[in-house]
Amino acid sequence: MSKKLLVATHNQGKVAEFAEMLADLQVEWLSLADIGLGQETAVAETELTFVGNAILKARVYAQQTGLLTLADDSGLEVDALDGAPGIYTARYGGSELTHVERYQFLLQNMHDIPWEKRTARFRCVIVLANPVGKILTTAAGSCEGMIALEPAGNGGFGYDPIFYLPGREQTMAQVDTAVKHQISHRGQALYALAPKLKDLFA
Ligand code: IMP
Repeated sequence: MSKKLLVATHNQGKVAEFAEMLADLQVEWLSLADIGLGQETAVAETELTFVGNAILKARVYAQQTGLLTLADDSGLEVDALDGAPGIYTARYGGSELTHVERYQFLLQNMHDIPWEKRTARFRCVIVLANPVGKILTTAAGSCEGMIALEPAGNGGFGYDPIFYLPGREQTMAQVDTAVKHQISHRGQALYALAPKLKDLFA
C-alpha cells in the first residue's frame, strides 16, 4: 500500500497538478477535503514571507493530521511596484474581487508604467513537514515575465492572462498546461523537491 501525502490546500486543482507533475511518486495524494477538513480549518497566513506562510500551513496540518504534509505559498512580484502584491497576491485589491477584477486592478495601478519597466515574476515556495511539525525540506521556484498591457488567453487561472512570457511571446494563459508545468514557479519548486520526496517514499 502506498504512503499518504497530504497537500495542505482546499484547492483540488492544486493537488491534481502536484500529482500530475510528480506522477512517478508512489504515494496516495490527499487534499484537506479528502480527509474531511473544510474551509473552516483554513490557516491565517500571518507571516511576512512566502516561506514563512508555507511553513506555518505545513506544520499546522501535519501536526493535526499525523500525515507527511506539503504546503506551498506563491504570489506575484512586480518590480515597478516594489515587489507588490507579493505575499498579498491572493487578496490584492480586496478579498471579494474575482480573479478578473483582481488582475484588472493591477493593470489599472500600472497604467502609466512603460513596457520596459513592467518586469515581474511569480514565486513559489513548497515545504514538507513531518507529523511532529519538523520541516524536512524546502524548495523555491520562480518564473520571470512582464505584466502585459492587456489580458490574453483563457487557460490557467489567477493572473495568468496578464503574465507575458517574453521568450514565448504568449501570456501564461496561452501556453499549454504541460508547458506551464515545465516553466512555472510551482513546477520549478516541485521539481526541486522531487529528489527528496523520492528518497522518502522509495
Ligand atoms: P496561493 O499560494 O495558492 O495562496 O496563491 C496566491 C495567489 O497568487 C493566487 O491566488 C493567485 O492569484 C496567484 N497565483 C499563484 N500562482 C499562480 C499561477 O500559476 N498563475 C496565476 N496566478 C497565480
